[in-house]
Amino acid sequence: MSTTHEVTNQVPPLIGHDPIAGDAALADACRRHADAATLASLAELGALAGSEQAQEWGRLANENPPKLRTHDRYGNRVDEVEFHPAWHELMATAVGHGLAGAPWAEQSAGAPHAHVRRAVGYVGWSQVEMGHGCPVTMTYAAVPALRATQELAARYEPGLTGRGYRFGLTDPAAKPGLIAGMGMTEKQGGSDVRANTTRAVPRPDGTYALTGHKWFTSAPMSDLFLVLAQLPEGVSCFLVPRVLPDGSRNVFRLQRLKDKLGDRSNASSEVEFDGTTAWLVGVPGRGVPAIIEMVNVTRLDCVLGSAGTIRAALTQAVHHARHRQAFGALLADQPLMQNVLADLAVESEAATALGIRLAAALDAGETEFLRLAGAAAKFWVCKRTPAVVAEAMEVLGGNGYVEESGLPRLYRQAPLNSIWEGSGNVIALDVLRAMGRSSESLAAVAAEIDLAGGLDARFDDAVKRLHAELGDPAELPLRARRVAGLLALCLQGSLLLRHAPAAVADAFCASRLGGDWGAVLGSLPAGLGVRSIFERAVVEPG
Ligand SMILES: Cc1cc2nc3c(=O)[nH]c(=O)nc-3n(C[C@H](O)[C@H](O)[C@H](O)COP(=O)(O)OP(=O)(O)OC[C@H]3O[C@@H](n4cnc5c(N)ncnc54)[C@H](O)[C@@H]3O)c2cc1C
Repeated sequence: MSTTHEVTNQVPPLIGHDPIAGDAALADACRRHADAATLASLAELGALAGSEQAQEWGRLANENPPKLRTHDRYGNRVDEVEFHPAWHELMATAVGHGLAGAPWAEQSAGAPHAHVRRAVGYVGWSQVEMGHGCPVTMTYAAVPALRATQELAARYEPGLTGRGYRFGLTDPAAKPGLIAGMGMTEKQGGSDVRANTTRAVPRPDGTYALTGHKWFTSAPMSDLFLVLAQLPEGVSCFLVPRVLPDGSRNVFRLQRLKDKLGDRSNASSEVEFDGTTAWLVGVPGRGVPAIIEMVNVTRLDCVLGSAGTIRAALTQAVHHARHRQAFGALLADQPLMQNVLADLAVESEAATALGIRLAAALDAGETEFLRLAGAAAKFWVCKRTPAVVAEAMEVLGGNGYVEESGLPRLYRQAPLNSIWEGSGNVIALDVLRAMGRSSESLAAVAAEIDLAGGLDARFDDAVKRLHAELGDPAELPLRARRVAGLLALCLQGSLLLRHAPAAVADAFCASRLGGDWGAVLGSLPAGLGVRSIFERAVVEPG
């Protein structure tokens, strides 16, 4: 056999690293808002997340997307979706390590850091594969919403908070764990859920019959769904199980699966209800406040998932730059590449710090803080993600554009968290709403920001600008993105100034708050200690 060439200057695979304990910013945040024991309790998950096995599950689940099976061979409707075994491995791992509903039961049992533990685990584990994060998130988020109706919580909460995963349409009462989804969006409107046309009619036995459709319902093989439908009193929230307590299948007609840009391991369906059995959650006509309990938590996960996406892209970029040479030197030793890597690392650290701070608010019961800070963070961190992933991809050059690198999958996933659970404009307007509704929310967020007052003049100026924006009532909706973005930046600045290495906080304040920055990543000003910033993001293969 003739030899054409030797392969040189290609980077070694990144395997055996720990995306949880090995991520200095994430580990610091865990110790800060919980403790070292909490971090240690995630060691097994971290090791698995960096393994070749888990990376292979992620690849296989995406290269073998779910298949819709509407009918069996005899023509009976079955409305099932078939997933690759790798998807089930991912799900079983996430549920088994307590990333779904478990923290709610742990918190009720007195665990002080259940939500931070879970958030840190979620940021680390979701880097393996983002699609299965969707049902894991919805299960986590369904628990507080379901608590509005004690009888339903008593029936389903033990399953939703369980650590067992059993796929398939069987009796929920016999399963070691349950998965939840949500159905709000309809053809004529998603953000404006009051435009829902699905109708609910009460039956004599206390249940309701739903008739109508949902245009997006992800993870349709979940055991139960929170669904919005109209009663004469207005939009109301219902629980729809796929299998009824008598063991029969509920009516849940899967019309199609969406052909999505990314998120391909996960199924997102169009569903029709026709006399579908449902139970009322909360009060008739108060469906939006009921489901908002779920939405507030899914928004937290949008921030955590985006922080994970940013971190996964950064990890690949730094790894590549430390092993690839161009023009006679490693990329990581070349000043302009150091600027790009440092800028990416600053973004990652800011996203991580804010996401874990939000999770700590759930542990502490800081509802008012979470309502406003969560919305602002959802707007900002999710919006930053596609730009960050695109820049990280470019660090890998042409290799980054090729599927095998993993960056294309991250890139396709990147915009999603900004679109669902309140698209950019809707969530920015929600930031205004949260401030308008409760001065306590604003006070709680302002108090957190003020903790860093006086630590940096650029930060102090940004906070003044924020107050000026908030104090000006003129055309507030038109300025909603400015307000939401600046609020999130001030929160991030406050956290980094108090807790991050000085070089990271300095770069953040110079660029994001002080305006000494270009329109693209990698345009930090000189004199910031860029090497130390990105070297903090280095993870070592095992
Ligand atoms: C992969 C995927 C999975 C999904 N899974 C689910 C699911 O499981 N369950 C579910 O219920 N939904 C799901 N969705 C739907 C998603 O939540 C909606 O698409 C989203 O809420 C936006 O609704 P819409 O598509 O109807 O857009 P619209 O509401 O029509 O909004 C379109 C655009 O207009 C903007 N806009 C809206 N109102 C205003 C305003 N007042 N001022 C300025 N701008 C405005 C929005 O920000 C958006 O950019 C999923 C979507 C995707 C892509």
